[in-house]
Amino acid sequence: MSYFNELYQEVILDHNKRPRNFGELPGADSRANGNNPLCGDRLTVYLKLDGKTVTDVRFKGAGCAISTASASLMTEALKGKTVEEIEHLFARFRAMVTGKTSLAEEPAAKLGKLEVFRGVSDYPVRVKCATLAWHTMLAALRQSDETVSTE
Ligand code: ZN
Repeated sequence: MSYFNELYQEVILDHNKRPRNFGELPGADSRANGNNPLCGDRLTVYLKLDGKTVTDVRFKGAGCAISTASASLMTEALKGKTVEEIEHLFARFRAMVTGKTSLAEEPAAKLGKLEVFRGVSDYPVRVKCATLAWHTMLAALRQSDETVSTE
């Protein structure tokens, strides 16, 4: 993890050690499973929806520090957002971690705490770890029951 600056690294390690919104979500409206065979990351994302707004989100699973921290920080970022806002947020997040900076650095790109994953763009193999929770969450949003695989 030497490629992250110290502050970012601290946030990632903290969310890995104490993931927020971790565990099953009773009464979830939707769920999906994600799998990143390249690294061995596996997780399930649970959503509660009110129309097109996410009112609650949780996850469980096991994986590397980046996949767990990314899922944890994602759950904090999603509550109260609409499907459209979430898709837009993911587009900016993906642009940042894949190094497509023109989109990630738009003034409107307010990624907040998700900025801690900016260093991932230097390590393409880690992009799948950082985006697994997002792909899985989007599958749950679209109510598709299949397991998402990054491969
Ligand atoms: Zn991983």
